[in-house]
Amino acid sequence: MMIEAAHKLGLSVTVFADSRSCPAFKICDDFIESSFTDMDALLKFREQCDVFTVETENIPLSALEYISEKKIVCPNGEAIRVTQNRINEKEFANSLAIPTVPFIEITASNIHDIDSCFFPGILKTARFGYDGKGQVHIGEKNQLLRNAKDLTNSQYILEKKVPLETELSIIIVRDKDGNIASYPLAENRHENGILTESVMPANVPIDVHKLAFTYGEKIVNQLDYVGVLTVEFFLSNGNLLLNEMAPRPHNSGHQTINANVTSQFEQQVRICAGLPIGDTTLKYDVRLENILGDLWFSNNNIEPREPNWEELTGGVKILKLYGKNEPRAGRKMGHLITLMRER
Ligand code: ADP
Ligand code: MG
Repeated sequence: MMIEAAHKLGLSVTVFADSRSCPAFKICDDFIESSFTDMDALLKFREQCDVFTVETENIPLSALEYISEKKIVCPNGEAIRVTQNRINEKEFANSLAIPTVPFIEITASNIHDIDSCFFPGILKTARFGYDGKGQVHIGEKNQLLRNAKDLTNSQYILEKKVPLETELSIIIVRDKDGNIASYPLAENRHENGILTESVMPANVPIDVHKLAFTYGEKIVNQLDYVGVLTVEFFLSNGNLLLNEMAPRPHNSGHQTINANVTSQFEQQVRICAGLPIGDTTLKYDVRLENILGDLWFSNNNIEPREPNWEELTGGVKILKLYGKNEPRAGRKMGHLITLMRER
């Protein structure tokens, strides 16, 4: 979707990825298929493009550092370093007096002696988790040992499981001159750790909207962030707690394509290209519903079967499919948008 936005602005896009089995391959202008440690490929990429960005935080920092020696990378490596690890992320938030759930890093030396205040908890891999992957619910201490098996190769975090009134996210944008704008706060519903629905604007008190913006602003300024940043929050017992951050456009902002003057994707491209920040105004109250791969197997069929789109869209919902080559249970394949009310 970032490539579509770039094309709309008349820009061309070279994608660097370790496999061509990604939707971007089909629509980009040039594609370099290589490992992120292949210096020849990185050199070619660096020479070929003017500005660089990421669409996942899981890019080796060494590759970003190499590119940023000669070219502009937005966001910067420090922002990626912080956001690619849940422990760094939460420590960073706390250092700015932004509250999080209580958490602790689980190591070989403390695993037998974790304070009972962290239970019931959720054990998560510190890196590479998404859509609830890499997470286990832990009711009591003795379950920890069974689940944090690979302490020498993986880093784990145990988070206290908190009651959720709702979940929220804010997409905040900052340009190289420090100008800041934000999209309205979105309210998100998850099932089994996967986002199923997102509504913009969130139906929460104005103070919560303001606080989410204040936290977002603090974060982008502290990181000297250039680009689009998403901050996910829990609203728990009246407290706004930072859950995690994404240094890129986010699933809870896909509705900005249809409902806002400037989409989150165009915004990322604009900021990278040095254009002024686009208007973030919401034109419609909007609901996004994710389409998961399960839908292709909804009649317990073994082979995937194309869903009945006419029935699903009801004629009024806007359908967007991402062009992923294989539907799988729990895999995000696309989304539906409902424009609810013109503002
Ligand atoms: P992911 O990177 O997979 O999105 P998250 O940490 O955001 O990981 O967890 C996915 C979802 O699981 C959250 O959106 C929330 O619904 C639930 N969850 C995660 N951590 C907690 C927690 N500490 N307390 C309560 N619910 C949680
Ligand atoms: Mg999340």
